[in-house]
Amino acid sequence: MTVEGDHLRRYESVLPDFEAFWEALQRPLPQTLAVNDQRLGAEALAEGLAGALSLTPLSWRPGAFRLAPEDRPGRHWRFSAGHFTVQEEASLLPVALLEAAPGDRVLDLCAAPGNKTALLALALRNRGTVIANDLQESRLAALHDLIRRLGLMNVSTTCGDGARLPLGESTFDRVLLDAPCTAEGKAQRGYLRASSDTFRAGLRQTQRRLLEQALKLCRPGGRIVYSTCTFAPEENEGVITAFLEAFGDQVRVRPVAGLPPGASPGLEAFEDQRFHPDLVHACRLWPQRSGTGGFFAVCLEKAAPEGIQRAALGPSALPEPTKDPRLPALLARYGWSAEDLEPWRLLDSPRNVRILAADHEAPRGPRYLTHGLDLARNRARVAKLSTPAAMALGPLARREVLPLADAAFLAYRRRETIGLKAEDIPPSVTPGAVILEHQGTFQGIGLLHFENGTWTLESQFPKAWVRDNT
Ligand code: SAM
Repeated sequence: MTVEGDHLRRYESVLPDFEAFWEALQRPLPQTLAVNDQRLGAEALAEGLAGALSLTPLSWRPGAFRLAPEDRPGRHWRFSAGHFTVQEEASLLPVALLEAAPGDRVLDLCAAPGNKTALLALALRNRGTVIANDLQESRLAALHDLIRRLGLMNVSTTCGDGARLPLGESTFDRVLLDAPCTAEGKAQRGYLRASSDTFRAGLRQTQRRLLEQALKLCRPGGRIVYSTCTFAPEENEGVITAFLEAFGDQVRVRPVAGLPPGASPGLEAFEDQRFHPDLVHACRLWPQRSGTGGFFAVCLEKAAPEGIQRAALGPSALPEPTKDPRLPALLARYGWSAEDLEPWRLLDSPRNVRILAADHEAPRGPRYLTHGLDLARNRARVAKLSTPAAMALGPLARREVLPLADAAFLAYRRRETIGLKAEDIPPSVTPGAVILEHQGTFQGIGLLHFENGTWTLESQFPKAWVRDNT
């Protein structure tokens, strides 16, 4: 620990185990994996990763595993195949507290870089509506990549000030407010600088404005989870106490269960401030007790004096269903019938045809960046299937699916052109864009050529996804 960490010494007054806290901050922070159960089950994932990564199942979060500090999950092929998300264990907590379920309409007010959005989209089983907003467009690029890798078709992304997001009132069943904060809880990852009082005061104002908007957008009886990755009580119990003082007639703290081992309740007091007594139901993760980064989360429930009512959404901002004349040929090539595609809608957008859950809603108002997943590029003469769509819809394809053995698969991921033997090509596969399969999972697109009696496969593996192959 460098002297820069000295600002964390003020927590000595609330931590009888302060020495252990200080020591825990010197240790590397383990990451966790959470399975993408739209692609495979947790057991199959654990089997598939055995020998490559050391997975320990998390007792409190089914389908998630703790990794060893030396593990590099981003280098494994199953990462770009979208078989799992990677995040710090504490990041799983707010999503678990929100308990979003299929049928819920969900808003993530401060979403970038997006792992929690992804977990929420999966909790809704890739159907329905997740609106993911962030103030910074550049930070949303990571979420867009995640959407493509995991094959999420129920997320619309928007960019704007969450405190003024024009999405009506009482619109969402669940609102996640993973607020901007001083990030002290990431000390193990090197975020050790002290924040000035002025900076913290500005953040507190933003946190409060975002909370008020979350309350407005949540339906009566719905839930808001407020979370930060800072130890600072001013941004946690302090912000929520002031919020409850102002809006205590409209919202209450909801007791929570199923917490990570070693979780602690919210603080009753810090320095000269006493906090709202219901904050014992908040959850703090102190690294020395939970083995995670530092975190705070509280689940709020909006009062429903006149019963639970969710407001209808205004007119839709979604583009029209596509009439792209090239699309029927594209769908026919892979044997997808109209029935196969019933759970989704295919929509026009300026750069590509999008595929989106049929029951997804996106009302007019915010500045949308994307809806769902890119299915095919618009510009080409022949519509070309995208890699994310090949990965997501591959299991429904009846033809043009080419299985790859290990060596050819690794060459595909290095973007090489691969020579194939005639016996490698199943009868249902013809030259052109083919979906590639490896170990029963769908990996992307290759261009299959047959010239002068020779078969070759040109890799279309996305450049941005090329990593060390393991
Ligand atoms: N939930 C994210 C995740 O799991 O990847 C992390 C969110 S991070 C703690 C806080 C985010 O809030 C930042 O991406 C920041 O750009 C965003 N932010 C800051 N002020 C905002 C505002 N007024 N409205 C919306 N987002 C804001």
